[in-house]
Amino acid sequence: MNKSKHERILNECLEFLNANGVDTDEKMRSVIEFFFSLDHHVSFDEIRLFIKDKGIHASDIVIRDVLNLLVEYGFATERVFADNVARYEHLHIGEHHDHLYCLKCGTIIEFMSPLIEAAQLDEARKYGFHPFSHKMQIHGLCKKCFGKSNRQTIPLSMIETGGRFKVVDIGTGRGDGFRSHLMDLGIAPGCEGEMIANHGGRIVIVCNGTRMALGRGMSMKVQVTVID
Ligand SMILES: [Zn+2]
Ligand SMILES: [Zn+2]
Ligand SMILES: [Zn+2]
Repeated sequence: MNKSKHERILNECLEFLNANGVDTDEKMRSVIEFFFSLDHHVSFDEIRLFIKDKGIHASDIVIRDVLNLLVEYGFATERVFADNVARYEHLHIGEHHDHLYCLKCGTIIEFMSPLIEAAQLDEARKYGFHPFSHKMQIHGLCKKCFGKSNRQTIPLSMIETGGRFKVVDIGTGRGDGFRSHLMDLGIAPGCEGEMIANHGGRIVIVCNGTRMALGRGMSMKVQVTVID
């Protein structure tokens, strides 16, 4: 994004706050300046780190206050992706975009599809609904991360919710009981499935149209590749 655009929104913001009777001291202004010098989606922790790096002495409370102010006065938007961390980005009037979020490396890609935008409007209107705003977030793997997990085998436990996989190995050399238990469930090399729920403990997958739950330990021993 270009520099003059960020300078413009920075000046507009400071003037707007001033005009609305919001007193900003030097510390607050340096956090605001810093926020508008960025070009991406930043979390509170990232801002805190960067600010420390730059030698700006602003307390956590000041940073929080500034972020809340920017959101309150319509100069920043708060976004929460699959990792449940609040991130902030500039709000440029009249501009809209949606996001792709990589579950593995956290890469955020912005996109705007006129086709999707129009389709959403059409859909809402079918219900006589008048939409004011929407947030479209697509969670998955970026090109780099998909490429990696597509080439190498990884434990089933590492497949994120919604991800599709192909079973490569169910633990050769392990006890027969372990293998036959998986075979009983219908999990064999070559079978494909989808992760229905993976929230850290037991996982739930669908293989051959059947929903099944596996303990964490077992899911760590099954080797899979990610598929589209
Ligand atoms: Zn959109
Ligand atoms: Zn990635
Ligand atoms: Zn964005």
